[in-house]
Parts: sequence; C-alpha cells; structure tokens
Amino acid sequence: MSKLENATAKAELGRATWKLIHTMTLRYPEKPTQDERDALSSYFHLLSRLYPCGECAIEFQQLLKAHPPQARPHFPSRLSESDSTQTSSRRTASLWLCSIHNRVNERLGKEEFDCAHLDETYDCGCGDEPIGTAPPTNNPM
Ligand code: FAD
Repeated sequence: MSKLENATAKAELGRATWKLIHTMTLRYPEKPTQDERDALSSYFHLLSRLYPCGECAIEFQQLLKAHPPQARPHFPSRLSESDSTQTSSRRTASLWLCSIHNRVNERLGKEEFDCAHLDETYDCGCGDEPIGTAPPTNNPM
C-alpha cells in the first residue's frame, strides 16, 4: 500500500536539510584544499541523488546541473580559473547555496532570502575549532 503524501513531513525534512547544509557551508574552510573542494562538490551531488523526496531530488539535480558547485578546473595551471568555482572559499560556497535555496524558494512561491544575513542565521554552536580535526593520538581511550 502506498503512503499518502505528507506535506508537513516534507516541509520539516526540507527545513532540517537546509539548516544542515547552510550551516555546513558557513563552517567550510576559508581556504579549502582541493580535497575539501572535491568533498563538498561530491556531497551535494550525492545528496541530490539520495534526497528522500523524489520531486525535490529531481529539482535539486537540475539546479546542480545548471549551477554546478565545482567543475574541476580544465586548466589547473591557470589559478584564476580554478579559484573562481563555488567551492573555492567559505564565502563563495555559502553564497552559492543561498542562491540555490532562493531558486527553490522562487519555484515554491516563497520569499527571497537576503544572503547578507547568512552569518547571523546559522550557528552550529561548535565554537572556532576547525572542521574535520582528528582526535589527539595520545588519548588513552
Ligand atoms: P525553508 O525554505 O525550509 O527555509 C528554512 C529557513 O531557512 C527559513 O525560515 C529561512 O530562515 C532560511 N532561508 C530561506 N531561504 C534561504 C536562503 N536562500 N538561504 C539561506 N537561508 C534561507 N519542497 C517542495 O514542496 N517541492 C520541492 O521541489 C522541494 N525541493 C527541495 C529541494 C531541496 C534541496 C530541499 C533541501 C528542500 C526542498 N523542498 C521542496 C522543501 C522546501 O524547500 C522547504 O524546505 C519547505 O517547503 C519548508 O519551507 P519553509 O518556508 O519552512 O522554509
């Protein structure tokens, strides 16, 4: 038996997901390594494939196709080109995601969000420690 569509659950899932991914881009390194840039790009592509709401996943995939988070630089020696992708810094990544969310907002008839307010809207509560820090090796546990 198929389940009835539940708009409340779909909206809750959307809010939770936006919260996670906006907070993530706002904690993304200011100067990411190529590995971190690849990781962010892969993360969004995998999320768009596995997102549980089918309609949303298709919309997300189309948005990523039109506005990719990162195309691997075609000419790695030309730094200006490689640095211009969306994953090249915290600022570019968070503004890129804000504009993706605004495109979804527009399609759903919601108000545009002012991306100047990102910093004050998202706080992970994690202080200043860098992401992905390995635990100390002398920990007896
Ligand atoms: P949300 O859009 O969930 O936003 C939550 C909060 O984020 C807002 O209250 C605001 O404080 C802040 N915010 C709003 N816009 C931005 C922005 N641009 N940048 C940063 N912060 C912002 N639902 C559908 O019905 N159909 C779809 O096709 C669909 N596609 C989706 C695709 C993705 C990738 C995701 C994550 C969700 C999708 N959703 C879709 C869910 C939808 O986007 C909303 O999450 C849901 O409708 C609840 O909306 P909301 O008004 O509570 O605010």
